[in-house]
Amino acid sequence: MDLKRLKKILKDEPGFRFKQIRRAVFRNFISDWDDATNISKELKEELKEKCSLEIDGEIFASKDGRTYKALINLSDGEKIEAVLIRNKDGRSSLCVSSQVGCAGACAFCATGKMGFRRNLKSDEMIDQFLFFARYLKNSFGKEEKITNVIFMGMGEPFLNYGEVMKAVHILNDENFIGLGARNISISTAGIIPGIEKLAEEKEQVNLAISLHAPDDELRSELMPVNRRYGIEKLLKAADKYIARKNRKVMFEYLLIDGVNDSQDDAIELSKIMKKPLYMVNLIPYNPTGNFRPSSREKVMKFRKILERAGVDATIRKSYGADIHAACGQLAGKNK
Ligand code: SAH
Repeated sequence: MDLKRLKKILKDEPGFRFKQIRRAVFRNFISDWDDATNISKELKEELKEKCSLEIDGEIFASKDGRTYKALINLSDGEKIEAVLIRNKDGRSSLCVSSQVGCAGACAFCATGKMGFRRNLKSDEMIDQFLFFARYLKNSFGKEEKITNVIFMGMGEPFLNYGEVMKAVHILNDENFIGLGARNISISTAGIIPGIEKLAEEKEQVNLAISLHAPDDELRSELMPVNRRYGIEKLLKAADKYIARKNRKVMFEYLLIDGVNDSQDDAIELSKIMKKPLYMVNLIPYNPTGNFRPSSREKVMKFRKILERAGVDATIRKSYGADIHAACGQLAGKNK
């Protein structure tokens, strides 16, 4: 929904009107202006005509009913994806896209194959939230809510910093969605100026950095961004962020068979990751073509080496392989 246009339409209405409508859209998740209470028929008609609530998307559900992927069609014909993971513990995490495609060209990433197409507007990021919030409400009842938002979908959030932060404000603002900042995470391929800017924001959102290799040579091969922002500078930026915020930084490390999952890799990684407030999240590779995932044994062994070296390391549970939930897999395919 176009928030700016909504404000414009309501500018001659009394102030409480905007509040009512804001509540209907961002808290009650209406998908049709006819479902908004307390507003006149004329205003409803005007809103229908000028400020559509429609979000054009299709949902693919995994067999176990825990992972849902939405393919959303944007007004200019581009497609993006959002993924919802409903954990058994009652939390539901929504993975949102920040760009159509991505300029990162990481070797293992399906979105990288598409190239960069355009930045998303904050409204288009919020629509991904509204789309799933409505879906959860209609499928499972009002109590079923999105509890976490992670900017780990298509795109590089820090190359669309302004719009991503606008979306973060709307997610976080009590008057809008009201999600705790600590339930919002941004994952970056390591765009240092973005890390520096985030350190100065008042919101306490979580920062995740995709590392995926323990040294510059391998990292540059896997992630071209490393040629610009190498590991040493990147970790310095992370240290500064921690000093400023006193918050944990999560380093994501994808485990790819025979590429970055050897014992030596684990030893090298533990050397650079052994710092207070650093944590490593090991991610089983979701096969998208080029590579194979590491075996379960190797993943466990890798973690053991990190743990023994005193590094805080967790293994991310993998969901949704049967619906191609890895970022960019669907939008790329349907092109
Ligand atoms: N550009 C940002 C955010 C989007 S990618 C970033 O790089 O962090 C979100 C995460 O998914 C990153 O850690 C990325 O490396 C990872 N990822 C990409 N392709 C994947 C795949 N096929 N399987 C598992 N994780 C993948």
